[in-house]
Formats: sequence, structure tokens, C-alpha cells
Amino acid sequence: MSSPEPQTHDFIRDIINEDLNTNKYKGRVHTRFPPEPNGYLHIGHAKSICLNFGIAEDYKGKCNLRFDDTNPTKEGDEYANSIIEDVRWLGFDWEDRLFYASDYFDQMYEYAVQLVKCGKAYVDDHSADEISKYRGTLTTPGRNSPYRERSVDENLDLFERMKAGEYADGEKVLRAKIDMAHPNMNMRDPVVYRILKESHYRAGDKWCVYPMYDWAHGLEDSIEGITHSICTLEFENHRPLYDWYLDQLGVYHPQQIEFAPLNLTYTVLSKRMLQELVMGKNVNGWDDPRMPTISGMRRRGYSSTSIRDFCSRIGVAKVNSILPMEFLEHCIRVDLNKTAPRFMGILNPLKIIIDNYPEGKEEEINAVNNPEDPTAGMRKVPFSKVVYIEQDDFMEDPPKKFYRFAPGREVRFRYAYFITCNDVVKDNDKVIELHCTLDPETRGGNAPDGRKVKSTLHWVSAAHACDAEVRLYNRLFTVEDPAGQKVHDFKEFLNPDSVQVLSSCKVEPALNDLDHFDRFQFERLGYFCVDPDSTKDNLIFNRTVELRDTWAKIQKQQNQ
Ligand code: ATP
Ligand code: MG
Repeated sequence: MSSPEPQTHDFIRDIINEDLNTNKYKGRVHTRFPPEPNGYLHIGHAKSICLNFGIAEDYKGKCNLRFDDTNPTKEGDEYANSIIEDVRWLGFDWEDRLFYASDYFDQMYEYAVQLVKCGKAYVDDHSADEISKYRGTLTTPGRNSPYRERSVDENLDLFERMKAGEYADGEKVLRAKIDMAHPNMNMRDPVVYRILKESHYRAGDKWCVYPMYDWAHGLEDSIEGITHSICTLEFENHRPLYDWYLDQLGVYHPQQIEFAPLNLTYTVLSKRMLQELVMGKNVNGWDDPRMPTISGMRRRGYSSTSIRDFCSRIGVAKVNSILPMEFLEHCIRVDLNKTAPRFMGILNPLKIIIDNYPEGKEEEINAVNNPEDPTAGMRKVPFSKVVYIEQDDFMEDPPKKFYRFAPGREVRFRYAYFITCNDVVKDNDKVIELHCTLDPETRGGNAPDGRKVKSTLHWVSAAHACDAEVRLYNRLFTVEDPAGQKVHDFKEFLNPDSVQVLSSCKVEPALNDLDHFDRFQFERLGYFCVDPDSTKDNLIFNRTVELRDTWAKIQKQQNQ
């Protein structure tokens, strides 16, 4: 389970320490982050990025950024560019080591020819259906293909012609000749090359045979001199094949190590599913603030520091688990509490008229920018006769435990004055404004006679306020594990209330000076950030997280 403290030690670092002790790689530590450019990166990838680049940093080694772009059908520049932006934004540097698997296509093909020449690969005319029929099951062995015993020369000739484009997609494949009865299904003569008459976003039309993942990945690692090839648990069963290929070729052999992928409640961490949400317009693109993508989280207001902090606290394990979203949100709050300047903003305005305050007068009230950061200083907030407060900070007929504003009651307007509510103006049944008086002796928010009030409200001066649109985000899904709901499609569990747009908010004028993506706190309401679509005439803020931290409660439940 996740730890409140950053982890500096894990089983992967144990392996590396041991390899350094035995001088297995001559003191080198070289990792890589190998995304396929077929979607945007998500928080699970951030875990892998922090692990791979983090290890390189810790051991003064190297980490490559490598596009594993061996499948022409789903890949593209938009994805590759977004990946570059996201890894940089997270704060990692691959120096001059940005690599593309597609640059190794020639070499991968030559290695396949070598495999054929040593009798370890053959061209099979079986269709995909026949191949899977012959493969057997977990409990029954497979059967040899009738094409398995072709001569080396025939195989070389056929493979060459596959490459030359003489056959249609699916007509032939190149397969490794291993063991059709192997207990590990991945070892039952896996496909090495298939025919795909598709142009590749980088290699163009040069190729019509493309390598399969298992063939390509180990070769990429080997070519780049990777020492520790770190991947997620689902590749554990592929490791024997990874090793077999490299052993047959007799080339440099990195060590594959598997760790448990990150799973988070109330979201999905699968590129395919995220793509489905984007294509189906269930969200407004890959960077929608509800998405668990790095670009979505950036737009939501998560800082790269807090994402890295989260990744270091969750640690690295060998067993699958699903982590509470509340823990991620906790890490975001810890960071924002320290760094986010405070402002006042009103989401649902209720007009307050201060009857004993002169018409046309205005004052500048001193406000603390961030009580958690003594260097953040103070700012001036304008105050005048008409101000706004939140509608739900007032009740005409309050129940016992409601301590905020009510007729006849005195409260503090933060940093400003003690204010008493005298009259309620209504239109039909709706409260539309309150007439109040202030006590001029309480300027700054304290009474010289020492009298206390039970509540402090935030407020904004009507004459000075800026209009703003505020988007309140909630969980994208209504259940903890939408992807694990067997018979049901995960999209059935989308939360219909995952975003609420408030378009008549009033905020203090200082908000106008912020830049896109700047993060701040609206006092009493939560952490927010400036949306990249925001303009001076049309301010747009996204709620990052609410203030209330529910992690401690969740942790308590888990420990019971
Ligand atoms: P797919 O391969 O199905 O398209 P993927 O999420 O594995 O999806 P890759 O581009 O292959 O996408 O991922 C790049 C790297 O990120 C891989 O090394 C993968 O193991 C790692 N990774 C992917 N998802 C997670 C996760 N949830 N937690 C940790 N690491 C992950
Ligand atoms: Mg993958």
C-alpha cells in the first residue's frame, strides 16, 4: 500500500545494486521509457517515467526516450509530440537520446534473416484463424503447422518476397520455431513479422512487413545498450521469449524486470479506453481536465512536482493493486497548500448592500497571499458599498448548526469588517439581496472590544469584480473500478455530473493578472487554475480539487 513518505528503495533498485556489485554491466545503469505513439500519456505512464528517469538520476546513469513505433496503423506525430511535451513537463531530460524503433527496421529485418538462416524461423501460410486453432490451449499442447519444416532457402526466399510486397495482408507470416507444446503459450512459435500494407508515419511506404512487439522490443533494448528493461507485469510471461530471441541471435542482452502497473479508482488507465472516450466525445479531448492523462491533469491544475511526489510515495511493487484516487488528490493538495496564492471568488453570488457605507467610497483591504508561505506577502483587495457573498453562506431561517449569515446575525467579512444582516429582499420566494450594516471599529476583521463572531465569509466588491466562468470537476466515473465491471461496458459508469459549469461567478480583480495554467486557491472553495482558453474578457477557471482532504478517512477504513 502507498506510504505517506517518499520511497527511496524498492525491489528494482535492489536488483540494480546487486548488478553493480557483480559488475554485470560494467557499472552502467541505462534505462528507457518506451511509449508507443498511439495515444496521450496518462498517470500510469508517469509512474513508469518517474521510475525509469528516476533510476537513471539516482545512479548517475542514462535514460532514453524511445518511441516504440512498430505498428503503423495507430501511430502519429500528434501523439509523439504530446509525449515529448509531457515527459519534459514532468521535468525529465533525455539529452540527445530520443530514439525511434522505426529507425531500426532495417536492422530488425536483418536479425530476422539471421534467425531464418540458423533454422529458428519459418514462413507460415496459415491464416490468423488457423494459427490460433493450431496453438492449443493452456491445458492442451498446440500442433505443428504443415509449413514448419520448410527449408532455410525456401524460407529466405519467401520472407524476401513478403518484404517485396508479393503477398496480401495476412497471407503469410514469419514465425519463430520454438516449441508448439511449450507450457508458456507465448513460446508456441510466436509470429515475428506480419504483412501490413500500410504506410508508416515516419518510414513512409518503405515497408510492408512489420515486426511484432516481442521481437522488436528486446532488439530495441539491445541496440540501445539498455541494462535494465523495466516494464509492467503483463510482460512477465513474455520474458522467456524476450530472452530466447536475444540468446538465439547472440546479441547484447539486457535484463527485463516487471513491476505492477498503477491503477487508480474512479478512472481508467488504458489508452484504448481513453481513446474511446475522446472519439465518442464523452470528454472534450485528451486534455479534458477530467481525463487521467498528463495533459488533462496539467489543465486541471495538478503540478508536475505533485505528480512526481505522488509517484515517489506510491513506491514500486510486484503485485497488482488499485490505489484510491483520494491519495493522488491528497498529494496534489499538499503541494498546492504550500504554493498556491489565495484569492476570493464567489461562485453563486448574493448581493449585499451595506447601508451605512457611503456611496462611491472605496477602500483597499490588506489580505494575506498565502498563510503557508511567509514570503508570499500581502495584496490589496478593493471594498465598497455593494459586495457579493456565496448564496449558500446565507439562510433566512437557519437550522441550529448553521453559523454563517442569517437575519440579525453578525459575521466577519474576511480581512474587512464585522457585518450584520438587517433586511432580506426577496423576489417571490427567492432571496435577491441583503441590507446590512458594518461596524467601522472592526476594520481589518477584529473587534477592539474583543467580541467574537462564529463565522468568516469570503466576499468580492461588486464594483470591482470580474466576471468569470468556473468549471467544477467531479469524478469521471461513478464506480471505483469501471474497467473491471465484467459484462458491462465501462462507459455505462460515466458520471453524468462530472462537470458543472458556473457562468456568472464574481472574482476579485487580481485574478485578471494570472497566466494560463496558474494555480491558486479560492478561499473556502478549493484549488483552481486558469484554463488555457481563458481570456481577459472571458475568464475561465478549472477547479483542481476541493479543500476537504478525505485521504485520512480512507486510510483509516483501509487499516480497519
Ligand atoms: P498499450 O501498449 O496497450 O497501447 P500502454 O499503456 O502499455 O498501452 P505504452 O506506450 O506501451 O502503452 O506504455 C509505455 C510504457 O509505460 C510501458 O513501458 C508500459 O509498461 C508503461 N505503462 C503503461 N501503463 C502503465 C501503468 N498503468 N502503470 C505503470 N506503467 C505503465
Ligand atoms: Mg504497452
